[in-house]
Amino acid sequence: MTAPGVPLGAAAIANAVMKGARGPVDAVEAAFNQADAVNAGPSGLNALLWTDEAAATQAASILEARRDEAPAPGLLGVPVVLKDNIATLELPTTCGSRILEGYVSPYEATVARRLREAGAVIIAKANMDEFAMGSSNEFSAYGPARHPLDPSRVPGGSSGGSAVAVAAGVVPIALGSETGGSVRQPAAFCGIVGVKPTYGRVSRYGLVAFASSLDQVGVFGRSVADAAAGLGAISGHDRFDSTSADVTVPDYRAAYSRSMNGVVIGVPREYFPESLDPRIRAHCDRALEALRELGATVKEVSLARTDLAIPAYYIIAPAEASSNLARFDGVRYGLRLQGDGLRGMYEATRSRGFGPEVTRRIILGTYVLSAGYYDAYYRQAQRVRALIVQDFAEVFSSGVNLLFTPTTPTPAFPIGAKTSDPYEMYLNDIFTVTANLAGIPAMSIPIGRVDGLPVGGQLMAPHFQEFEMFSAAFAVERALGEEAHR
Ligand code: GLN
Repeated sequence: MTAPGVPLGAAAIANAVMKGARGPVDAVEAAFNQADAVNAGPSGLNALLWTDEAAATQAASILEARRDEAPAPGLLGVPVVLKDNIATLELPTTCGSRILEGYVSPYEATVARRLREAGAVIIAKANMDEFAMGSSNEFSAYGPARHPLDPSRVPGGSSGGSAVAVAAGVVPIALGSETGGSVRQPAAFCGIVGVKPTYGRVSRYGLVAFASSLDQVGVFGRSVADAAAGLGAISGHDRFDSTSADVTVPDYRAAYSRSMNGVVIGVPREYFPESLDPRIRAHCDRALEALRELGATVKEVSLARTDLAIPAYYIIAPAEASSNLARFDGVRYGLRLQGDGLRGMYEATRSRGFGPEVTRRIILGTYVLSAGYYDAYYRQAQRVRALIVQDFAEVFSSGVNLLFTPTTPTPAFPIGAKTSDPYEMYLNDIFTVTANLAGIPAMSIPIGRVDGLPVGGQLMAPHFQEFEMFSAAFAVERALGEEAHR
């Protein structure tokens, strides 16, 4: 068991550094000490893949000079961790794959640059399922990350390492990526906050593409305030990503004082099936009751096409992945293995460089895009996606401001429990893939525990309404207090 004391939040660290009460170098050193502590021993959490303590310390030491800057850098001296599919200078970017082992990007992701500009120090790249394909972090080429409360269990995935780094008290903020739930699901499993912004809210420049029409960078925070600070720092239009939107970015932290009076919360019945663990349902009911006590109206709604989301997602995402991953051919990046001629080199590199889940997705994706099956699978899945988008549009235009659901159907499962049956693994994403298909913002917040393991509640909002979503998250967090971790 790793029980960190009470680690400081991002605002507390930044304030201490700003006032000179704490050196940025000390903040970074404390993060490395905690990282060593949670990685020690045979059941080490394996959250971080690549670190360079000397470089991070050097980056921290020059921050002293930024204390007098106006406006104050909001994350001054705050140590952060980035998922290993986000390009950073100096540290490797391997996507948890052998095919990119040792690869160092020649350029930096916009989100990494924005965090540094806000005064944060990137201390490590975090473990993940290979190319972000998975829900447990077991498909990393560098070994699984482990759950911080029970190392025999998974922390969730694909951004497992980032979630563990926050939950185990190494950093207050970490970045992950979301294609179908890879931030919200591990956040729920690890008992922390995880946000997936609206598609287009955050630049994807420098995020290694998995399924480009679904991918977004997401943020983990130990608290709603940490997640709000992190998302605020990375949001906004970027000329290097034409799908990033030019929409004003509010200060999400200010959502803290927004009242719940008159807010209408929809509870979609499809997310509370008969089979749902009654203890998870009870935690959701408690969170909804808290919102009601604060003045919100709670009403049942329907998102009728929810059961089509998993099949549609697992056609669209692999289809896009099969195209995006074609670039890893042994010529341009990372690994190259010799074979018979050019084709042999491709074959050797790709069959040895990619792990089993990535291989499965590439084969699946290639199949559904092939001439004979395109209409039956890919086009059909796109039609289903349009219906799911329509479901959300109808609910949100009927006066519902936000939706509330469980984040996952179960808490964290044991390592090895679902690796032999891909469909069992895919079913984990049943409550999360819908937001990615629709492009809407969604987040997971801790709402209680089942058998000692954290359970997450999910909030979803209309496009670009992250502020409203955060206001409800702050309200639930405040109302539940310690109950959210019991
Ligand atoms: N678990 C889902 C998948 O395997 C989602 C992954 C993600 O969001 N990156 O595709």
